[in-house]
Amino acid sequence: MSGHATLAPEGVEEIDLKALERELAGAVEGEVRFDAGTRAIYSHDSSNYRQPPLGVVIPRHAEDVVAAVRACREHGAPVLPRGCATSLSGETTNVAVVIDTSKYMREIVEIDPQREIARVQPGVIRDQLAEITESRHELTFAPDTSTHEYATFGGMIGNNSCGIHSVMAGRTADNVEELEIVTYDGERMRVGPTSEEELEEIIAAGGRRGEIYREMRELRDRQADRIRERYPDIPRRVSGYNLDELLPEKGFNVARALVGSEGTLATVLEATVRLVHSPPARSLLVLGYPSVFEAADHVPEILAHEPVGLEGIDSRLIDDMVQKGRHTSEVPLLPGGEGWLLVEFGAEEREQSHARAEECMAELRRDPTAPEMKLFDDAGEEQRLWEIREAGLGATSYVQGERDHWPGWEDAAVPPARLGSYLRGFRRLLDEHGYRAALYGHFGDGCVHCRIDFDLRSAGGLRTWRRFLDRVADLVVEHGGSLSGEHGDGQQRAELLPKMYGEELVGAFGEMKRIWDPGNRMNPHKVVDPYPIVSNMKLGSDYAPPEVDTHFAFPEDGGSFAHAALRCVGAGKCRNAASDTMCPSYMATKDEEHTTRGRARILYEMLEGQTITDGFRSDEVHEALDLCLSCKGCKGDCPVSVDMATYKAEFLSGHYKRRLRPMAAYSMGLIMLHARLAQHVPRLANLLTHAPGVNRLVKRAAGLSGEREIPPFAHQTFKAWWQGRGAVNPNADPVVLFPDTFNNFLHPEPIKAAVRVLEDAGFRVVVPAPALCCGRPLYDYGMLDTAKLFWRRMLDALAPHIHDGVPVVGIEPSCVASFRDELPNLMPHDEDAKRLSLQTLTLAEFLQRHAPDWDAPRLSRRALVHGHCHQEATAGMSAEQELYERLGLDAEILDSGCCGLAGSFGFEREHDEISREIAEQARLLPAVREAGEETILIADGFSCKTQIEQLSERRALHTAQVIAMALDHGPSGVAGSRPEAAYPDLVQNGDGRLREAALVGGAVAAGLGVAAGATALLRSR
Ligand SMILES: Cc1cc2nc3c(=O)[nH]c(=O)nc-3n(C[C@H](O)[C@H](O)[C@H](O)COP(=O)(O)OP(=O)(O)OC[C@H]3O[C@@H](n4cnc5c(N)ncnc54)[C@H](O)[C@@H]3O)c2cc1C
Ligand code: SF4
Ligand code: SF4
Repeated sequence: MSGHATLAPEGVEEIDLKALERELAGAVEGEVRFDAGTRAIYSHDSSNYRQPPLGVVIPRHAEDVVAAVRACREHGAPVLPRGCATSLSGETTNVAVVIDTSKYMREIVEIDPQREIARVQPGVIRDQLAEITESRHELTFAPDTSTHEYATFGGMIGNNSCGIHSVMAGRTADNVEELEIVTYDGERMRVGPTSEEELEEIIAAGGRRGEIYREMRELRDRQADRIRERYPDIPRRVSGYNLDELLPEKGFNVARALVGSEGTLATVLEATVRLVHSPPARSLLVLGYPSVFEAADHVPEILAHEPVGLEGIDSRLIDDMVQKGRHTSEVPLLPGGEGWLLVEFGAEEREQSHARAEECMAELRRDPTAPEMKLFDDAGEEQRLWEIREAGLGATSYVQGERDHWPGWEDAAVPPARLGSYLRGFRRLLDEHGYRAALYGHFGDGCVHCRIDFDLRSAGGLRTWRRFLDRVADLVVEHGGSLSGEHGDGQQRAELLPKMYGEELVGAFGEMKRIWDPGNRMNPHKVVDPYPIVSNMKLGSDYAPPEVDTHFAFPEDGGSFAHAALRCVGAGKCRNAASDTMCPSYMATKDEEHTTRGRARILYEMLEGQTITDGFRSDEVHEALDLCLSCKGCKGDCPVSVDMATYKAEFLSGHYKRRLRPMAAYSMGLIMLHARLAQHVPRLANLLTHAPGVNRLVKRAAGLSGEREIPPFAHQTFKAWWQGRGAVNPNADPVVLFPDTFNNFLHPEPIKAAVRVLEDAGFRVVVPAPALCCGRPLYDYGMLDTAKLFWRRMLDALAPHIHDGVPVVGIEPSCVASFRDELPNLMPHDEDAKRLSLQTLTLAEFLQRHAPDWDAPRLSRRALVHGHCHQEATAGMSAEQELYERLGLDAEILDSGCCGLAGSFGFEREHDEISREIAEQARLLPAVREAGEETILIADGFSCKTQIEQLSERRALHTAQVIAMALDHGPSGVAGSRPEAAYPDLVQNGDGRLREAALVGGAVAAGLGVAAGATALLRSR
C-alpha cells in the first residue's frame, strides 16, 4: 500500500501517441498539446490524486469535441472531459486525452427569461451566467458551489454540484432540462425527459441511440424496485449514477441520469438549464450554539422557516482562521457560541426578508435554550460573514504547528434531521483515529465539509486512513446518508459504493457504464470498476521528491521547496478573471498554463520527476513560469498563500546557474548599476534611449520592446538635490527616507514631495549617503546571490539606524515589499534583517503610526487609487485608506489588479503585448479611462505610474505629491482638469553639459567594464 505510482487504463501503452497527436492536430481547430509541460500541468485536480494525461485538446467548439473524440476512438485512446478541474475526488485526472472546454467554449447560447431556461456551452462559468440572469431577470442557477466564480457548467453537470442555495432549488441534476452530448462511439444527440411514447419511438427507430435507450429501459425495469428501496431520499444524494431519474415517476429523464456521471458516460456539448427566481432582498441571521453538534440538532426547526441558505461552522474553523491572521476583523461579528448557523432569508423587499428572520428569531426565543442571535443589517457585513464560510478550505489546509490537512472525507451528507447524531459519531471516529478537523458545510442539506490531517506519506498512515474510510462510510450508511453530498465519487469514494448501494446496484452502475461506453474509454476506472483508493496519489509512502538547497528559507513550508511546490490545494481561485490581483497572466490568456495553479503543478512535477525529467534545467518549467509577472498577487489572494513570485525567483536562480541569462536580465535586472553610471551622463543616456533610430538599436540589444519608451534619467538625482539642502527640523525625531533606484534616478519629484510631507509632519529626514538598493529587479531574474550582497550592504549602511529603532520610509511600494518579504526570507537568521523588515513602512503607515497628531492638510477632491500589487499582497492598503480620509479625499481604492508592467516585465520584447493586455483585462485601463478629468489618479508604484502614463492620456500622482498639492493649494487643490499636470515626476533642469561631455568617454569605458564584469560574474554563478 504505497500509493504513489500511476495506474493507467488497459491498452494505453499500445497507443501510437505521435500519430494520435498528429491526427488530433489535423482534426480540430483548437489547440492540441502533448508536450511534457502541458501534461505536467494537467496531471492534477483538487484531490489527493494525480495522473499525467496522454495529451490535451482545447477545443474551440462542439465540432472540435466531436472530432477529437473520433480521433481518440480511432486510436483506442481514453477521453477525459474537463472544465476548471476543481474536483476533489480524483475524477478529473486520468491517463487519457483531456478535452478542456474551459478556454474557448464559454458561450451563453440563449437566455429565455419567459421559459426560465438558459442554454450554455460546457465551458461557461456558473457566475458568468448567474450575474447576467440575476441582474437582468431576477433569475438564477441555484446550485452555487464555493467555486462559483470559476467552476464550469460541464464540471457542475459532471459532478452534480450543489451549493449554499441548493436548499432553495436542489442539486445540478434538479436544474438540468436537456443536454446535447456525444458518446465515445460518436453518437451525438439531445437528451432530456422522455415520455413513454417518445421512448417507444426512439427504441423503434433503432440505431445506436435506440439501442442505448432500449438497454437503459431494460436496466431500469430490472432494477426499479431496488432503486426505490436503496436510493436514500435525502437532499444531497450525489454518490452513484442517477438511475432513479430513469424511473417512470421521474419521466425517464436521460439528461438528469447523466448528471453526476463524472465524464464516464458521455461528453456534454451543450446544456439547457433551469433558472429559478432569485429573491433580490436577503437578510442574514446568525445563530450561536454551545457546540456545532447542538447547531446541527436545530437544523430541522430552522428549515421549517424556509430559508434560502442554511450553513454551519464550528469554532475550530474560527480558531484556525484566527491563528492564520485571516478574517480577524470578521470573527468578532459572530454572536457568542462554539457552533454557528448562518441562516439566509430571501424576499422581494428587505423589510420582508427581515420580517421572516425576525419571525424565526421570535419562535426560537420561546425555547429556554435559545441560541445567541444576531440579525445583520449591513450588506457589507453580511458579505464578510459569507466569506468566513467560503474560506473554509484556505483556513484549514496548513495550520501552523499541525500536520497538513487533506480532502478525503470532505462532503458526506445525511438526512438533515440526523445531522447532529452523525456529527457526534463522526467526531468520535476522528478522535479514535487521532485525526483533527474543523467542521463546516451545507447543514441545511445535511452535508458536512472538512479537511482532515490524514497521514498520507507513510504506509501506516495510509492503512489508518483506509480503515477510517471504511468506518466512516458505515457511519454515513447507518444514518441513511450519501458518501458524497456534492463532490462526487471519482476514485476517492467509488470503492466504497457497495456499502451504500449493495452489490446489485453497483452492478447496475457497471451495466449503465457498458450501455454508454462499452469499450471503457470514457474516464475509465472512476465511479465504476474503480482504481483502488490508495493509488495514483500525489503523496503515498513512496513519494520522495529531492530536497533542494534554496536561497529563500520558505518558513511556512518548513524550509522545504518540495512542500512549497505541493502547497497549492487546487481551489482554482487563480482562475477567477473578474476580480482581485491573482492571476494577471491567466486573466489575459485564459490558459491553464498561465495560472498560479498550473505553475505550482509543474514545479511539483519537476521535483516528482515523472513528466519533467530535467529538473531545474527544464525549458517546459521555464515556459510555464515565463508569463508570471512576479506580482505577488497569489501570495495575497490565494487561500493558501502560494507565493509564485518567490518560487519563480528560486527556479530561475537554479535554471540559470552557470549560464547566461537573457539580455533583459542584465539591462533591467541590473538597472541600479546602469543608473549609477547614467547619473553622471544623463543626457547621453537619454539620447541613446530616445534618439530616433539609435533608441531602437539600444532597446533591441537590451532585449526590450521597441514600442516602449524607456523612462528618462533625471539630470539631477534626488540625492544630488538632497545634498544641496540645508537642515530642516534639526532637533526633531529622525526618519530614514529610503532613496530607491526608481525615484532617486528617474522620478525625483515624488520623493522630494515625501521630504516635504515628512518635514511638515515635524520630522528630521535622514537620507543614507551610500548608494543602496533593495535589489527588487534582481528577483524577477532569479539573481539571488547578487540580491543577498545588496542586502548585506544595506544592513551594514543602516545598522546604526536599525539599532536605534529609527523608522525607514520607502515610497516605492515594491521596495517596501522587498524589505518586508524577501529580506527576512533570504536572511532568516539575521537579527538586523528582521528588525529592518519590521521598521520599514510606507509613507501612509509611517504617518498613521508616528504622526497621529499631525495637522494634515485638507484636500476635498475625488480620487481613484490603484494599489501596487506587491503592497496589496504584503501589507494591504488600509493605512493609505485612512490617510486619504484624514486628508478629506473622496478616494476610491480600485479593484484594478496588476498594472501589467510589473517592474521590467512589460518592457521586455516578448512581454510587451501581454503587459498591455493585462492592463486592460485586469481592469486598470478601463478604470482610468472612465475617471473624470478632474479626478485625481493616485498610484504609488513606479511601474503602475509608468504603465498608466504610457497607455492612457492620464498620469497618476504619488500619494506624497497629492499631500504636497494640499499643502500648496489648500482644500480645492489644483484647479481644472488633469490636476497631475502641475505635479510632474521629473523636472529636467541644470546645465552641466560640459562636465557631462568630459565624463562621457570615461563613463562609456566604465559602462563597458561594468557590463563585462557583470557578465563574467553572472557566468560564474
Ligand atoms: C475549494 C473548493 C470548494 C468547493 N465547493 C464546492 C461546493 O460548494 N459545492 C460543490 O458541489 N462542489 C464544490 N467543490 C467541487 C467542485 O468545485 C465542483 O464539483 C465544480 O462544480 C466542478 O467544476 P469544474 O469546472 O471544476 O469541473 P471539473 O473538475 O473540470 O470536472 C468535474 C467532472 O465533470 C466532468 N466533466 C467536465 N466537463 C464535462 C463535459 N463537458 N462533459 C462531461 N463531463 C464533464 C469531468 O470529467 C469531471 O469528472 C469545491 C471544490 C473546491 C476545490
Ligand atoms: S494557486 Fe492558490 S488559488 Fe490557485 S488553485 Fe492553487 S490554492 Fe487555489
Ligand atoms: S506572482 Fe502574479 S503573475 Fe505570478 S503566479 Fe502569482 S498572481 Fe500570477
